[in-house]
This record gives sequence, structure tokens and C-alpha cells, in this order.
Amino acid sequence: MSPKSLLITGANRGIGLGLLKQFLKHKDIQIIIATCRDPSKAEELSNLKDSRLHILPLDIDCDESISKLYAEVEKLVGEDGLTVLLNNAGILLPYDVEGEKNRKTLIRQLETNSVSTALITQEFLPLLKKAAAKNGGDGYSINRAAIVNISSTAASVEKIDGTFNGPLVAYRMSKSALNSFAKSCSIDLAKYHILVTSFCPGWVKTGMGGANAMLEIEDATKTLSDNILTLGNAHHGAYLNADLTVIPN
Ligand code: NDP
Repeated sequence: MSPKSLLITGANRGIGLGLLKQFLKHKDIQIIIATCRDPSKAEELSNLKDSRLHILPLDIDCDESISKLYAEVEKLVGEDGLTVLLNNAGILLPYDVEGEKNRKTLIRQLETNSVSTALITQEFLPLLKKAAAKNGGDGYSINRAAIVNISSTAASVEKIDGTFNGPLVAYRMSKSALNSFAKSCSIDLAKYHILVTSFCPGWVKTGMGGANAMLEIEDATKTLSDNILTLGNAHHGAYLNADLTVIPN
């Protein structure tokens, strides 16, 4: 069994595009919504031909863009609601505590990775609640209704040990805030049985991860997508590596 519908943000490149390609291999997923800032420039994404794939514009930092997307997705999923919201889009702005002070950079980093992701999640709650109610059952399942956030081990306060610390300060703050939001959601939305899980995909060779990263996109997203499709009660509220091992907060 697979979720009926899935929406992924930042699906034009990197981990988002990799995850999308993996999910397209699962023929039980009936509606796959890939969003990106400018579909007309998303060549590789547009070349993926599949009748289940819907490519829609979304700038996660723009409220109007989020509302427009909601209206389109509502038409696509109808009374079934949206089964999975996969918050993948993110940025990494290098910021060093010993460098120049820059309020704008700090706010921009926090805005995209935590504030915008929180706002998208709030917007899509009605469709997630609909899916959770319609699919029914006793507990949590990726096939019922789920919010999956792509976080990072960089968010783990316990794991801050000096490795890459300098330039990652603002990024760490943004992903910690995202994890905090996710944990709150897992408790506040428990009454609807909407599963909430945060993942670190590993260090992956993307625009953000860079050429020296340890993992190829295809390998990393295969492990991650396979495990996302197994999520259930044991993973609700969890902060996990791609292989489902727990990351300390
Ligand atoms: P990339 O930089 O390769 O891709 C980032 C994606 O996010 C792009 O699709 C980009 O779109 C999109 N994006 C950024 N800002 C916005 C916005 N305002 N609105 C819509 N889309 C936006 O990064 P990765 O693929 O590596 O990262 C994906 C996720 O994984 C991120 O959340 C990242 O923090 C996380 N992660 C990555 C790791 C790695 O090693 N690569 C490690 C740990 C976590 P556009 O093309 O328009 O810029």
C-alpha cells in the first residue's frame, strides 16, 4: 500500500527531484504534485512524463503563492484530501558568529527554512485533516495523512561539536526551529492522527551539499523514500536519519 497523494516542495533539483523520481516508481501513488518556483525553467522536472505527475508553481516565501497552490491542489485531490505533505525546499546561507553582523541574512535563513515551512503546513492542514478522516484507522500512517519535513542533523543541538560550525550557525538555527515546529505539530495534531516526522537525508551531493558530500542523490533518495513509505506509529514526532535511526535533539 502507498499514500494516495503526495506533494513535494522544491522538486526541480537536488534531493526534491531525486525523491520525486523515486516516488514515481511507486505505481500505487495516484497523485504526485511537484512544486517549484518556476516550472518553465525546470527542464529536468518537465521532462518527466507521467500522467500522475502535476507540476505547479510555489515560492514558499510568498503567501499568495501558497494560497494559489492550495486552491489547485484542492481541485486535484477533492474529497480524498492530501495524504502527504513533504516539506523539502530549503536554503543554506553561510553565516559565521565571528563574521559581520547581518540581520537580513539571519532573517532570510529563518524565514525560508522555518517560517515558510510552518505557514505551508498550516495552509494545507484542512486537506491533511480530510485525508486523515477519510482514510480512518486507529493510528498514524504515511498512507493515512502525514507531514514529512526534510530537516538536517545540523538541527541537533546535542551534536554541535565544532564540525562545520562557523558557516552553519544560521542554518542550524533555522532547522532547529523547524524541528521545534514539527514536534509541536505532532502533539497538537495528534487528535487528527496526522503523522509528523522530520528527517536528515544525509550529506548529499546537491547544490547545497556540494561536490564533496558523501552520498549520490539517487542512493540517498532511494533509502529515504523507501523508509518514508514505511512510516507509522513508531515514527510519529520523531527526528530521524534516512535509515530511521533516531537523531538526538
Ligand atoms: P538544493 O540547494 O540542491 O535545492 C534546494 C531546493 O529548494 C531547490 O529546489 C530550490 O528551488 C528550493 N527552494 C529554495 N528556496 C525556495 C523557495 N523560497 N520557494 C520554493 N523553493 C525553494 O538543496 P538540497 O536538495 O540539498 O536540499 C533539500 C533539502 O534537504 C533542504 O531542506 C536541505 O536543507 C536539506 N538537507 C540537505 C542536505 C545535503 O547534504 N544536501 C543535508 C541535510 C539536509 P530553486 O531551484 O528555485 O532555488
